[in-house]
Amino acid sequence: MKVYFKELTIVTRRSCELINITDEVKKAVSESGIKNGIVLVFSKHTTTGVFINEAEKGLERDIPFYLKKLVVEEDNFFHHHFFYKDGRMAVNAWAHIRSVLVGLHAIVPLKDGNVLLGGRENIYLAEFDGPKERHVVVQIMGE
Ligand code: ZN
Repeated sequence: MKVYFKELTIVTRRSCELINITDEVKKAVSESGIKNGIVLVFSKHTTTGVFINEAEKGLERDIPFYLKKLVVEEDNFFHHHFFYKDGRMAVNAWAHIRSVLVGLHAIVPLKDGNVLLGGRENIYLAEFDGPKERHVVVQIMGE
C-alpha cells in the first residue's frame, strides 16, 4: 500500500464562508499516482469544517446562514480565546460549536483513478472564524 500526503494552504477572506476545494483534492490524487484506495481530507483547525455537499450558489449562502442561526454569536459562552489589551475577552465559541456540527474531515473512495464523488457532490472547507490562513491535509492511501 502506498501513502501520499499533501497539505493545502487556503487563505480565507470572510468570517464565515465555504470554499470548494474539490479541484485541489483531485489534483493531489492525480499527483499521488495512486489509483485505488481512499482519500482523506482533514482540516487542522478547530474553528473550521470539512464536508461534502452540492456545489450550488444558493446553498453556498444557505449553509453558512443556517449555521449562524443555529449557533448565534450573541450568547454567554464559557470559552475564551484571548484577551484584548483593554481587558475585553475575545470569544469564538460559536466557531468551535459550528465546527463540531459540521465535522473536520471527509473520506472519499478512489477507484480506477477517479475520486468517487456523486454527480453533485463537492468537497468544501468551511471557515467559521476567518479571515485566516488554513491548512487542510489530503492523504491518499491505496495502490
Ligand atoms: Zn477558541
